[in-house]
Amino acid sequence: MHCMGEMKWSTAPFHVDRNGCHVLLDAVPAWVCVQCGEAYFEGREVDFIQDVVNSIEEKKAKFALADKITFSPGNQASFYSILFYHLIFSSY
Ligand SMILES: [Zn+2]
Repeated sequence: MHCMGEMKWSTAPFHVDRNGCHVLLDAVPAWVCVQCGEAYFEGREVDFIQDVVNSIEEKKAKFALADKITFSPGNQASFYSILFYHLIFSSY
């Protein structure tokens, strides 16, 4: 519980650790206490954070699965470059 100070609509950093993944969002819109700086995220922002975490979890699962599949040496390199391309560009 915060100190009952005035709440102002601002931004706050949000950090989450999930199974070895560390996600730090620098500025998520939130109600921030002007006295102690404690942040309260509203539904839309909580959904957004959840969406980011879920999408990372999903990509991690695909990557872990890829680790268990054996490829012939010739195909391996191209498979991984496609996977990394997907990981980087589908996040936006
Ligand atoms: Zn406070």
